[in-house]
Amino acid sequence: MPKHIFVTGGVVSSLGKGIASASIAKILEAKGLKVAIQKLDPYLNVDPGTMNPYQHGEVYVTDDGAETDLDLGHYERFTHSAYGRENNVTSGQIYYSVITKERHGDYLGGTVQVVPHITNAIKERIREVSRNKRYDIVISEVGGTAGDIESLPFLEATRQFRHEVGRENSLFIHLTLVPFIRAAGELKTKPTQHSVGTLREIGIQPDILICRTEKKLEQPVKEKIALFCNVEPEAVIEGRDAESIYEIPLMFKEQGIDKVICQKLKIEYKAGSLHEWRRNVVQKALRPKHSVKIAVVGKYIELQDAYKSIYESLKHGGIANDSEVVIKKINAEKIENTRSFDQFKGISGILVPGGFGDRGVEGKLKAIQYAREKKIPFFGICLGMQCAAIEFARNVVDMKGAHSTEFNKKTPYPVISLLEEQQNVKDMGGTMRLGAYPCQIKKETWAYKAYKVDEITERHRHRYEFNNEYRDKFQKAGMRLSGISPNGKLVEMIELEDHPWFLAVQFHPEFKSKPDKAHPLFREFVRHALLYQEKILPESMDALNVINSEKEKNFEQGQGEKHA
Ligand code: GLN
Repeated sequence: MPKHIFVTGGVVSSLGKGIASASIAKILEAKGLKVAIQKLDPYLNVDPGTMNPYQHGEVYVTDDGAETDLDLGHYERFTHSAYGRENNVTSGQIYYSVITKERHGDYLGGTVQVVPHITNAIKERIREVSRNKRYDIVISEVGGTAGDIESLPFLEATRQFRHEVGRENSLFIHLTLVPFIRAAGELKTKPTQHSVGTLREIGIQPDILICRTEKKLEQPVKEKIALFCNVEPEAVIEGRDAESIYEIPLMFKEQGIDKVICQKLKIEYKAGSLHEWRRNVVQKALRPKHSVKIAVVGKYIELQDAYKSIYESLKHGGIANDSEVVIKKINAEKIENTRSFDQFKGISGILVPGGFGDRGVEGKLKAIQYAREKKIPFFGICLGMQCAAIEFARNVVDMKGAHSTEFNKKTPYPVISLLEEQQNVKDMGGTMRLGAYPCQIKKETWAYKAYKVDEITERHRHRYEFNNEYRDKFQKAGMRLSGISPNGKLVEMIELEDHPWFLAVQFHPEFKSKPDKAHPLFREFVRHALLYQEKILPESMDALNVINSEKEKNFEQGQGEKHA
């Protein structure tokens, strides 16, 4: 039976419980323990797939096609485990299953209640994660903040869980905020005391506190928190704001969080090393040799979390190239009617991410045209690929008014359209093309140069597809269809022939990139942005010849070994 760690949060939301959970998993994995993480979300949506990015940030897609909370992205980036549907539990799913059973008559005339029926269903899901897999530790992150009405059933379920499995088999870690009050020049511990008090009221005494703070937590402050919150001083861990989120496992380990966990859960203590993580990820992220500026042109630019995995993947591409990636966020709507491209000054790469709905689409098309004509490295993802196809149709193949039928059902050139199987779909939740699908890669393409294999699998989340009727016209006009589904029916990757690096994909590579193993396409995109910046690539058609130069070949040999 695995040991269980429950991670809760208090005082305010957005303290980084997801990153804290992922960091703890990272530290425990480094000891050779097998760790799973799951997120328990208190909202009533069955999954975040139907939620607006303004509500929820990015929807993270797993291999098995689950649309999940973005914290699963942190879990996968920090650890070696692959996650799926069972790793994201929502109140919506729990209530849905209980009510379905009630309608079926499974409760045999009983009154169906939050306690015990909902809490039992939650406990069942907590156990489910390790049902057929052998894990040493299961970390369950409880969404929401202690004191919320919504998260109460989850907290009650975890309290009961601990009661059932015992103290040696379960542990509570509570994340709180220790604010610095400038006028008093002091860190304040009271919100933490209150938050722990709230947990105690419902029967949960946390074992470890992680205190988010912008200033150092000196020993006397730690001792004060320990005394009033009833934990040992060594169980008060400072969670200082970090320059890179990838530093956090190192920060926690330096303070001995793993010692406390092993001691409380009666696990034999093995030091475990984060040396490679420090050298290959943290040092590269904090002290890069180069710097390159990349524009992301999207419509949720003002939100930090809407393109979370894309921003992280760009950083990973930077780490692989020993470069900082400075991301310039450009609001697609704002460039729809502008004539000047001043915003793109100093930019060495342009990325258009995925999205839904027509707001900002014309701005994205404009940015793509600019990248194509000025021969700036371009990377299109999902809607970004669909827009690249539309732009190419309109401005290169001369198909005026070309569009996706998502935005204009009457377009004379529906270069992006719905497959037959999508045409009668009425329900919005979970009905897109979702999850991992294979794709075959043609040789002599940028895609092949990046992946160096004939077949890959990547994760999808979209309804619309490249319309096969236009394949020939596009190819004749200079667009390579570099990735196709094994049955030959779906165009998954496109790229331009006379461009130094213009590649667009129907899937979401950002869901499979890791800081210590950048996704090949992000690695290559950033590398070409660096080449563009160094002016190794002249802004002309000769670019292709330069790419085949000796320097390029040498570089690729090195990269090939590293990422094979
Ligand atoms: N809206 C497009 C579709 O449904 C693209 C989706 C996306 O970018 N994830 O096909």
